[in-house]
Amino acid sequence: MSAVVVVGAQWGDEGKGKVVDLYAPYADLVVRYAGGANAGHTLVVGGEKQILHLIPSGILHEQTRCIVGQGTVIDPAVFLQEIETLNERGVGTEGRLLVSQRAHVVLPHHKLIDGLREKKSGGAIGTTKRGIGPCYEDKVARRGVRIGDLLDADRLRAKLDANLECWRPVAEDLGGTLPSTDEIVTQYTELGEALRGYIGDAGSIIRASIKADEKILLEGAQGTMLDIDNGTYPFVTSSNAVAGGACAGAGIGPTHIRSAIGIAKAYTTRVGGGPFPTELQDETGQKLRDAGAEYGSTTGRPRRCGWLDLVALRHAVAVNGLNELAITKLDVLSVLPKLEVCVAYELDGERLAFPPYERIEEAQPIYETLEGWSDDLTACRTRGDLPPAAQQYLGRIEQEVGCRVGVVSVGPDREDTADLRDPFRG
Ligand code: GDP
Repeated sequence: MSAVVVVGAQWGDEGKGKVVDLYAPYADLVVRYAGGANAGHTLVVGGEKQILHLIPSGILHEQTRCIVGQGTVIDPAVFLQEIETLNERGVGTEGRLLVSQRAHVVLPHHKLIDGLREKKSGGAIGTTKRGIGPCYEDKVARRGVRIGDLLDADRLRAKLDANLECWRPVAEDLGGTLPSTDEIVTQYTELGEALRGYIGDAGSIIRASIKADEKILLEGAQGTMLDIDNGTYPFVTSSNAVAGGACAGAGIGPTHIRSAIGIAKAYTTRVGGGPFPTELQDETGQKLRDAGAEYGSTTGRPRRCGWLDLVALRHAVAVNGLNELAITKLDVLSVLPKLEVCVAYELDGERLAFPPYERIEEAQPIYETLEGWSDDLTACRTRGDLPPAAQQYLGRIEQEVGCRVGVVSVGPDREDTADLRDPFRG
C-alpha cells in the first residue's frame, strides 16, 4: 500500500499547500483528486510566494511527478497560465505533469452563471465565481465536456451544442447571454492544442505507479466541512473533498491507501456563508485574521475566524478515518493570552460530541479555556521546543479528537516546521 491521502480537516484553507509541499520530497507522484481553481494553495519558498490553483504543490520538487486527476474540474486557461508561470520561474513541467483526459472542463458560461447566481442571491453561498459549481452540475447531469474533448473539434462542437441548449433558459432567466458554440470551440481547441502534451490517461498511470510500488500522495482540495456529503450542506463545495473522494477522483481502489492525514489550523476559519459555531465576530476574531493573514488566496476575501472547533475536527477524524493530524499556524495563537477550544456543542440542553447535521447553526459551543503563550514559535523544530502551554494545547487536541498530531507548522515558510517526518514511513 503506497498511497497517503492529505485532506483538509476543517472548512478549507488549512495550509494544505504548505504541508503537501513538505511531504512531496518523499513522494514519487502527487495527485490532486478533487475541486477546481477555487482552491488556492499558497506556498512560500525562500520567502517567495507562489499560488497554485490547479497544479499540485509537489511540482516545486524536481523529482516529483504531478497528476491532476479525473475528479477535478479544469479551467484550461488557468492551467496553462500556471504552467507558464512555473516555467518562467525555472520550474520545468514537461514530462512531469499530466491532467486526466476525463477531468471536466470549466466553460465560459459556467463562470458566467456562477457569477450571475451569486449576484442574484446576494452572495448567499459565497462561491468563488470560478464556475466550479455549474461545471460539476454538468458532470452529474451527464452533459459535461471533458479535457480529452478539447483535442477533437467535432466532438467538442456536438457536446457544446447540447450543453448550451440546457443552459440557455437559465442564463436568460438570470439576465445573461451565453457565448456561441463557435466562440467556445475556437478558444478551447486552441487551449487543448497548447495542453496536448499534458493530457493523458491519468488513471492508468497512477495504477501503474501503484504496481511499481511508488509512493503516491493524494492531495485534496477545500476541506471536510465543505464536502458535498459530509459537510455543512448546502453551504459546501460540489465535490467529495474527503479522503474517500481520493479513490474515485484518482481512479484507484481503497485497498491501496495506507493512511490519511488531516490538515487543521490551530484555530478555525471559513470563507463564504454557512454555519460556523465558534466564529468570533469581535476584536479577538480580528486579531486572528490579522495575525494569520486570513484573506483568501484566490479571492482576497476576509476569512471568518474563530476558536478551534474540536467537534468539527472530531467529525473530520471520523469521516476521513484519519491516522494523523498536521496542525498549522500554531504561531498565530501567540497573539492571544488565553485560548478557548470548543470541546462539545449544546443543543436543546444536550451535550453533543459530533455536529448535529440539520441544526448546526443552532448549536452553542461549549468552551474550555487553555493557557496561551506569547513566545515566537517560528524557530521551533520539534514539539519539545514549543513552550509548555503550546505543547499542552496540542495534547488537548489529541485527547479530544482521538488522533495523534504529527507535523506542526509554526510559520509560512518550509523551514518553519516542527516534527516533519516521512509520511510513507512504516
Ligand atoms: P490551503 O489552500 O489549504 O493551502 O491554504 P491557503 O494557502 O489558502 O492558506 C494558508 C496560508 O497560511 C498561506 O498564506 C500560507 O503561506 C500560510 N501558512 C501556512 N502554514 C502557516 C503557518 O504555520 N503559520 C503561518 N503564520 N502561516 C502559515
